[in-house]
Amino acid sequence: MTAILITGANKGLGLETARQLVAAGHKVFLGSRDFDRGRRAAEEIGAVPVQLDVTDDASVTAAAETVAAAGGLDVLVNNAGIQAEMNAEGLPAGAADLTADMMQTTLDTNVVGAVRVLHAFLPLLQRSSAPVVVNVSSGLASLSGLSSPEFRAYHYPGVAYPTSKAALNMITIQFAKAFPGIRVNSVEPGFTKTDLNHNTGTQSVEEGARVIVGLALIGPDGPTGGYFDANGPLPW
Ligand code: NAP
Repeated sequence: MTAILITGANKGLGLETARQLVAAGHKVFLGSRDFDRGRRAAEEIGAVPVQLDVTDDASVTAAAETVAAAGGLDVLVNNAGIQAEMNAEGLPAGAADLTADMMQTTLDTNVVGAVRVLHAFLPLLQRSSAPVVVNVSSGLASLSGLSSPEFRAYHYPGVAYPTSKAALNMITIQFAKAFPGIRVNSVEPGFTKTDLNHNTGTQSVEEGARVIVGLALIGPDGPTGGYFDANGPLPW
């Protein structure tokens, strides 16, 4: 049985990833910044709730202590994420409307938060015989994609969210090189119907979570330092 922590797992892709991993027989720590929301979600699927706000040092440190006391960790899924530049109609602020606040809020959760969690849980992962990190990125992270007119999302106008996910991809590359004993990969789950995009996504959470689950379970001989979607490796 593999011990897996998923951040931001009280709903959306994180919750569905947790559900699939519990169903496959793994021990899942369901991270949620609101403990009650997390407890309810965890009860529903048979996971272990852990209060974890990726923007809060004390919360992340306490979560690492809880997981250590419960036996340690093999797999970390950095899933918590926001799209702070989105308006009520589900449209992202383009370059002309982007504010420093929108950028800072986005980076605080999607980039700094992921680093805070990595830093706190690395000692536990290093004690595992087959440690794995999955960074939940996005197709919008692709520098080659967003600069190529033929790319399906070329006309996406948002700046903060793609910037944050491109940064997360760089974290994947650098951590994979620094920790060759840990499989560290980025994943693009695909455009999935969740609150993040005001449920405008075109695929279900069941479909989106499948590739996250696959990368969480790659094992010690799997790839590292890569960026994948359901069909295989993606260009950065
Ligand atoms: P979602 O339903 O909005 O879920 C986001 C989760 O992140 C929620 O549980 C949320 O908690 C949590 N979260 C936000 N800020 C947090 C913080 N400071 N600390 C801890 N948790 C926090 O969105 P989703 O679509 O499932 O997104 C999951 C991941 O997939 C994100 O990284 C997103 O960028 C990525 N992604 C999504 C899509 C898509 O089409 N949906 C595509 C590519 C990548 P609360 O409930 O407390 O807000």
